[in-house]
Amino acid sequence: MNGATDLEHLLGDDPDQPDGASGSTGTDAGCAAGFEVLHRYVESELAGDAPARELPGLAAHLRRCPACHEDYLGLLESAARFGDVGPDPA
Ligand SMILES: [Zn+2]
Repeated sequence: MNGATDLEHLLGDDPDQPDGASGSTGTDAGCAAGFEVLHRYVESELAGDAPARELPGLAAHLRRCPACHEDYLGLLESAARFGDVGPDPA
């Protein structure tokens, strides 16, 4: 996976990356990169699209990262409640 940033990886189409990277606790680069696009994932889901198809790397990360999955659930809930998703990407 040399030559690609974590964000590029999350935006890419390689959901079958090995699971070994998430063995330790705490955050990793995938979490930070995932947070940058998490609102897009939620927006897509709320719009009735298929975010797992648009952002398969993030979908895979959410499956194996409880912390990000919690962020995702929180964002989904607040977006559904307030009709907006954050954080503001700008
Ligand atoms: Zn994570």
